Amino acid sequence: MAAYEYETHEYDVVVVGAGGAGLRATLGMAEQGLRTACVTKVFPTRSHTVAAQGGIAASLSNMGPDNWQWHMFDTVKGSDWLGDTDAMEYLAREAPKAVYELEHYGVPFSRTEEGKIYQRPFGGHTTEFGDGPPVQRTCAAADRTGHAILHTLYGQSLKNNAEFYVEYFAIDLIMSDDGQCQGVVCWKLDDGTMHVFNAKMVVLATGGYGRAYFSATSAHTCTGDGGGMIARAGLPMQDMEFVQFHPTGIYGSGCLITEGARGEGGYLTNSEGERFMERYAPNYKDLAPRDYVSRSMTMEIREGRGVGAEGDHIHLNLSHLPPEALHERLPGISESARIFAGVDVTKEPIPVIPTVHYNMGGIPTNYWGEVVNPTEQDQNAVVPGLMAVGEAGCASVHGANRLGSNSLIDLVVFGRAAAIRAGKVVDADAPNPTLNQASVDAAFDRFDRLRNANGGVPTAELRLEMQKCMQADAAVFRTSKTLAEGVQKMDTIAAKLDDLKVTDRSLVWNSDLMETLELTNLMPNALATIVGAEARHESRGAHAHEDFATRDDENWRVHTISRVNGKDVTLAHRPVVVDPLTTEAEGGIALKKIAPKARTF
Ligand SMILES: Cc1cc2nc3c(=O)[nH]c(=O)nc-3n(C[C@H](O)[C@H](O)[C@H](O)COP(=O)(O)OP(=O)(O)OC[C@H]3O[C@@H](n4cnc5c(N)ncnc54)[C@H](O)[C@@H]3O)c2cc1C
Repeated sequence: MAAYEYETHEYDVVVVGAGGAGLRATLGMAEQGLRTACVTKVFPTRSHTVAAQGGIAASLSNMGPDNWQWHMFDTVKGSDWLGDTDAMEYLAREAPKAVYELEHYGVPFSRTEEGKIYQRPFGGHTTEFGDGPPVQRTCAAADRTGHAILHTLYGQSLKNNAEFYVEYFAIDLIMSDDGQCQGVVCWKLDDGTMHVFNAKMVVLATGGYGRAYFSATSAHTCTGDGGGMIARAGLPMQDMEFVQFHPTGIYGSGCLITEGARGEGGYLTNSEGERFMERYAPNYKDLAPRDYVSRSMTMEIREGRGVGAEGDHIHLNLSHLPPEALHERLPGISESARIFAGVDVTKEPIPVIPTVHYNMGGIPTNYWGEVVNPTEQDQNAVVPGLMAVGEAGCASVHGANRLGSNSLIDLVVFGRAAAIRAGKVVDADAPNPTLNQASVDAAFDRFDRLRNANGGVPTAELRLEMQKCMQADAAVFRTSKTLAEGVQKMDTIAAKLDDLKVTDRSLVWNSDLMETLELTNLMPNALATIVGAEARHESRGAHAHEDFATRDDENWRVHTISRVNGKDVTLAHRPVVVDPLTTEAEGGIALKKIAPKARTF
């Protein structure tokens, strides 16, 4: 057994993660007087939420008629009828309250002439249950909405005496023999000390796992650590096959180039200089829906018409646009292209590739954020002492596809819900749990094994192999053949985790070891994604399967539940919640409004 000295900390609640979701949960817990710690591997305001530009959806009706029922309908349709209806109602209904709370906490929202919160239009957000014109529902703080939210929530959390443990890396959950979560084991990155957090409630708010792919718009820290900890605790993940791709991430860095670039007249070309979107979408061409454009680009690459030395990306052309228009309308894009692709957009095309943008799947929870571990007797069995919120969780409000600006609102609505629930189930006067020492020891043993790993495969090499496999075989364009090949390749790749080589054995700022821990978290997320995708024989939302091109509600309107043990993935299914929280008579949405129908635009 590995011998590490550690310091023990006792709290009512430990939140792992300080993005929008983690901070909103932390603040809500601390406001109620619960002794709350927030553990984060990066400084709170460097969490990926800081990169969110567009905004946060809520039916405030500041720019015209709107209501939560319309927002709920759009979310149900956007999810391609895979979201849980109770959670989607909770999201849409609570959204205005959550945004006004943010305003009162101090988020500097952009304003209308009359001083109300400014709202802009976003894809998929409509009026009259999809029959009316688009609605302006997305509240924004200029193009820095995530930045503004993070800074405000961090300040408010400090004011309410939440304690922050910054640059602490959570290694594993501490679980009792009868399945209760009791805390988390952490490694302090800057001085190499070890820490055990004993808590009555642990909240995982660790964000997405975009970095399982070669090209992702998310930060390098988005490594699905929550999912990894969950898998090792013998708990499941849900709907992992649903991964949202944005057509235009910069090749290599993955930096996002907004859809506005094509809106302003930009177009895509292949290695023959052909504007290929005209072939795939004669009407909408380059402005066809995101999943459609991404799939067309991938087909061109697979058929040998990609650009670049490896023929593995596509060109986005803007140089035909007048320089004044570029300067005025797309200054940010011109700058990103210069910095991240070394390209002058007035003269050259930008190298782009469909890029992973968001993970709809995650740790299954109810709409209070409580983690669920479905059993045959109880599909909604709650794991005591454990919650998950934000992109790490799956409540599930995004189902098979997320609408733009619905993630930021998910963070604050469910971060807040988790705090409300914790106020009810956590007894501040009760003693902390007696820790299961075997579980603590197991975390240190794993850490020590990786620290001393002396095999033949460097972490960076194996990570790249996994990322390339996921990018090629579990991408936007999925067939039975590519998925079967991908599952097989990933099986071989995951086996190499036993043959890792870590060169740095120190405990202080050992990025080699940290990236290795992250790789052991990325891998179960990646495995669940590709195995779940191979098994789902239909097309729904972001999961577009060429051999099963239509949605099959009879057999597949179910959540995928995946348990990952080492490199083995076991799948099961769980029913989708179809009933809303309130009836039409109580002011809720009419059932016939949200009955499944074809998703056309
Ligand atoms: C470029 C970009 C633009 C976007 N724009 C929008 C938008 O305009 N509107 C919208 O609604 N959505 C947008 N999204 C999506 C949205 O921003 C994210 O889904 C959301 O910010 C995720 O927040 P989170 O709190 O779940 O996680 P994150 O913000 O990713 O935070 C994760 C936290 O977990 C911590 N953590 C992780 N692992 C560990 C560990 N092992 N130990 C300790 N701490 C750990 C990290 O330190 C971090 O604090 C965008 C996403 C991207 C990538």
